[in-house]
Amino acid sequence: MSPNNTSRKPRVAIVGGAIGGCLTALALRDIASTIVVIERAANLSEMDLDLGGGGITLFTNSVDLLSRSDLVQPGGLTAESLRVPSNAQTIVLREWYSGKETNRIEAPGEHWSLHRRTFITKLYELVEQQGRSEGDHNAQVEFIWNVNVRPEDVDTLAGTVKVGNERVVKADIIVGADGVKSAVRRAILRASGFGTPKSVPIGFSVIRFNQPDSCLSQETRRLMNLQDCSKPSQGERFQGEQIAVVHGPFMRSVHYRIRDDGLLNSVVYIPDDIVLRDRPGLGRSWRSQVDGEFMNSLVDKHYAPMLPGMADMYRQADGAGVWQLRSMPALPTWSHGKAIIIGDAAHPMAPFQGSGTSMVIEDIEALRLLLKQSLAGPPAMDEAIRNTFDSVYKVRFLRASIVQTISDRTPFQRDVLDQKQRASLEMEGNPNNMGSLILNEDGMPLHEAYSKARKRVEEAVEAERLDLDSPIIVQWAMVYTNADEWQKSKESLILDDEHDLWRKDGPSRT
Ligand SMILES: Cc1cc2nc3c(=O)[nH]c(=O)nc-3n(C[C@H](O)[C@H](O)[C@H](O)COP(=O)(O)OP(=O)(O)OC[C@H]3O[C@@H](n4cnc5c(N)ncnc54)[C@H](O)[C@@H]3O)c2cc1C
Repeated sequence: MSPNNTSRKPRVAIVGGAIGGCLTALALRDIASTIVVIERAANLSEMDLDLGGGGITLFTNSVDLLSRSDLVQPGGLTAESLRVPSNAQTIVLREWYSGKETNRIEAPGEHWSLHRRTFITKLYELVEQQGRSEGDHNAQVEFIWNVNVRPEDVDTLAGTVKVGNERVVKADIIVGADGVKSAVRRAILRASGFGTPKSVPIGFSVIRFNQPDSCLSQETRRLMNLQDCSKPSQGERFQGEQIAVVHGPFMRSVHYRIRDDGLLNSVVYIPDDIVLRDRPGLGRSWRSQVDGEFMNSLVDKHYAPMLPGMADMYRQADGAGVWQLRSMPALPTWSHGKAIIIGDAAHPMAPFQGSGTSMVIEDIEALRLLLKQSLAGPPAMDEAIRNTFDSVYKVRFLRASIVQTISDRTPFQRDVLDQKQRASLEMEGNPNNMGSLILNEDGMPLHEAYSKARKRVEEAVEAERLDLDSPIIVQWAMVYTNADEWQKSKESLILDDEHDLWRKDGPSRT
């Protein structure tokens, strides 16, 4: 940062205190003067973490950022501190009625499957410690719980967030990390003169449950290639584990461990019509649950020849969370005035590629680096912040939209491809998930190329010479190191008519 500008530390308000909110508070620790996080839940234990998906997988790009950069804390996070159980480098697809292996995908690099609550608890602990030790120049973070921010509470130009009847939080930067139903997104779009986008069902619902290791039968263990839970001693990880994908007619389930005590995470995708036929209205709310009777009927009526070990797992999933997956078009802007949205608020996506969290982590990296560079420059703080927001959109929009588009469209390929073809296409086509399979022009695995690009971007920011149009920015932002490849993806995946719909003078403005 230039000597003249060392005191230019913005006040930051963050709406939403889950993964995106906590990570933003950590990432901006030495850039912000004050940080206030406003969260709807009453406290950490009241957060919708278990029904909303007990486990998440992070792929090489975001693991690299969390573990090998200073994004969260100096030196990064370790797998042990997050109780990551294994580095599952193989995805194995099997038939639902025979258990026969139909495809196997090997992906080098480090992947973390995490228990969502363990992850957020760790982030929250770090946020609490932030700025409290002597000589530490990091901003302390105030958490305001139990406040449901409404779009009308956010004044994007004044930089204020109304918190209940008594208090107004004033900030130079408002970050909307408030998820798929974001209030900050609505405030930004309204202030920019755009209409509110409607999400539409993509045709699938998801049932999600976690089971302790002790519940799993030997047959289930064999099927999923899970090691015996008692094997690793403290601090060691399970070796040779896989992500198991079981596929059948119009269904797919994904299973992997998410904690060092062996906790298994299962996600079952089924067509809406099966869920809604049996229970109309089910899955509309984030808190919807299915009971044992529903799971029994799923096994007996819809997936009758299912392997007995699998069927047992399903039958035991009484109380599992269920919700309908919906998609939303790419947005014409992510910011207005002093407010910007990140993560699911900016680009919500179906979980078929397991990439939403990775995208929020990448957004935060971009926000941190670009803000750091902008604040070091000559423009006044307001202008520097506006420039940062424009730059974040510039480097993140296409990347996030492409991952969003691939994630949302995944199930629709089922009619034209067989399972094996589809699995390969998904893996190879996804610029995030298992991107390590793709080699760049020099034959370097993509995750290594990404890591290299990231380091070069950090160095350029430190030296105050980051040029948004430079090739490293293209590498970093797009993750593709091959410009032709990138161009091809952009053309094939982003539909022009989606953008036309968003033109200010277009039909959906109101
Ligand atoms: C079934 C499923 C499986 C998934 N699996 C993976 C995976 O394997 N890998 C992966 O990378 N991603 C996965 N994802 C996606 C991932 O969960 C999301 O992308 C990620 O949680 C987004 O984080 P976020 O912080 O942007 O939003 P959220 O996690 O939605 O957090 C938003 C926070 O804001 C709060 N909030 C909301 N509205 C308000 C308001 N008006 N006022 C105040 N506070 C508010 C909420 O209470 C919440 O705490 C999965 C998602 C689902 C549904």
